Amino acid sequence: MSIVYLNGQFMPIDEAKISPLDRGFLFGDGIYEVIPAYDGKTVGLEPHMQRMFDGMAAIGIKSELTLDDWKQIIEGVMEKNGGGNQGIYLQISRGADVKRYHAFPEGVTPTIFAMANPIKPAVEANAATAKGFSVATTQDLRWQRCQIKSTALLGNVLHFQQGYEGGNDEILLYNDQDNLTEASSSNAFIVKDGKVITPIQDNQILPGITRNIILSILEKDGSIPVEVRDISMEEVRNADEIWVTSSSKELAPVTTIDGQAVGNGKVGPVWEAAFKLYTAGKFEY
Ligand code: PMP
Repeated sequence: MSIVYLNGQFMPIDEAKISPLDRGFLFGDGIYEVIPAYDGKTVGLEPHMQRMFDGMAAIGIKSELTLDDWKQIIEGVMEKNGGGNQGIYLQISRGADVKRYHAFPEGVTPTIFAMANPIKPAVEANAATAKGFSVATTQDLRWQRCQIKSTALLGNVLHFQQGYEGGNDEILLYNDQDNLTEASSSNAFIVKDGKVITPIQDNQILPGITRNIILSILEKDGSIPVEVRDISMEEVRNADEIWVTSSSKELAPVTTIDGQAVGNGKVGPVWEAAFKLYTAGKFEY
């Protein structure tokens, strides 16, 4: 049985209990992270933790845990669950009040939870063997603070479900200007004429750690041109390649959009080149 961390202690998951008055449960009032580890080595640990601290500051959750405390929790859940390839999930909610009331309670201790779940080994950077993702598209109906990695994920869940029910792996979202924002649980990229393009980091998208690592690696390498700007859905439909990125998918090539082929319908050469660079460099972040 998996061993989790809850409020200072490691325990089997079926012993981990929280109050029904926890604001994470009642309001989705919390922040979370998912950090991937391959062969026990994390990818992007510090940027993930920085994003978590930024999210806590953005919603006014204060905790005494330091970066080193969090690192020990992460090490603990990894080790106690056998190491290897794991997705480490961290959550901090505002805690449990004595009643249900919208205003932030005074003097309540945040609830801190961590678990590690097995993830698949990283896929090979080979266009001939990589699985192409299928995506649907829909208008982004989430809130206007998508830069906060909030546990209130109902908007994302409903979007994901819409794609899933249509047999898709993901769903790409566009704003009321018909510009691409991101996907329901990933960031999005397109490739046109050899150039990699991704939307600007603003309140419409999560500052994806995988996105940022890929952008840094591509910029440092310099062999693949990169542009960060608005992308219309017409450009998305006419792209040579589309990718979605997240800590669990890494860099996933999309070969079908709304039932139509992306480019020639095959996993593309720019994906292969970029993913080779990512695979070689990801543990440095
Ligand atoms: N956007 C959304 C809405 C997400 O939920 C996620 C994470 N699942 C991402 C982007 C990707 O972020 P990261 O690369 O940090 O996992």
